[in-house]
Amino acid sequence: MAVDPLIELRDVNKYFGELHVLQDINLTVGKGEVVVVIGPSGSGKSTLCRAINRLETIRSGEIKLDGKLLPEEGKDLAMLRAEVGMVFQAFNLFAHKTVLQNVSLGQVKVRGRKKADADKRSLELLDRVGLVSQAPKYPAQLSGGQQQRVAIARALAMDPKALLFDEPTSALDPEMINEVLEVMQQLAREGMTMVVVTHEMGFARSAANRVVFMSDGRIVEDRTPEEFFTNPRSDRAKDFLSKIL
Ligand code: ADP
Ligand code: MG
Repeated sequence: MAVDPLIELRDVNKYFGELHVLQDINLTVGKGEVVVVIGPSGSGKSTLCRAINRLETIRSGEIKLDGKLLPEEGKDLAMLRAEVGMVFQAFNLFAHKTVLQNVSLGQVKVRGRKKADADKRSLELLDRVGLVSQAPKYPAQLSGGQQQRVAIARALAMDPKALLFDEPTSALDPEMINEVLEVMQQLAREGMTMVVVTHEMGFARSAANRVVFMSDGRIVEDRTPEEFFTNPRSDRAKDFLSKIL
């Protein structure tokens, strides 16, 4: 399958002090692809996502989005963050703004939309994640699953080229996990390019085009879900799967 690359990492290395947290990372995510990243705690999954969004700098190598190197700073960096939306474990909504304001704010500030247009788009997206009736409420009045769906709507409101999810369901009570995964499944079906760090293996099996397994700062496996789950090659992946499945 020859897909047009959207996110490309070439020989990426990153250190935290002495710790070599990303080691010679090579990863290409094609347009419309869903790549699930799994691996033990501390293996570098969050750092990988953060580097793609330039929340972390790298020591060497290059990261491209749609053929262009990531910008260093300024206006271009704000635009990059709009183009590569990120959804975190902690929902990171503005507590003192309503749901509607949370989804509209970036559209006005970064995309330069008029408030009325931004609100219209926000309501469409809130409808898509099943939350249009919650628009006037504040985040604290919503469940965790609802807050995470608002966070997804907010990321979508910027018309991103790709979305990064870093353990989006890890902070949720079990009964709320599915409502968030269903929204993500829907996005995957609609062709959104996604990098998803998750321990939800059901999601990986059903939505991922590829599973990337990380261990100690390295990509150890990068294969289809069928291949990975039925026949992991590395002992580390076998060991990891035996603990979580
Ligand atoms: P994962 O998301 O796979 O659990 P992380 O990317 O969060 O892993 O972390 C990888 C390694 O880098 C861990 O050893 C972690 O302790 C370390 N680390 C993460 N962020 C920082 C930081 N800001 N400063 C120093 N070390 C960090
Ligand atoms: Mg992490």
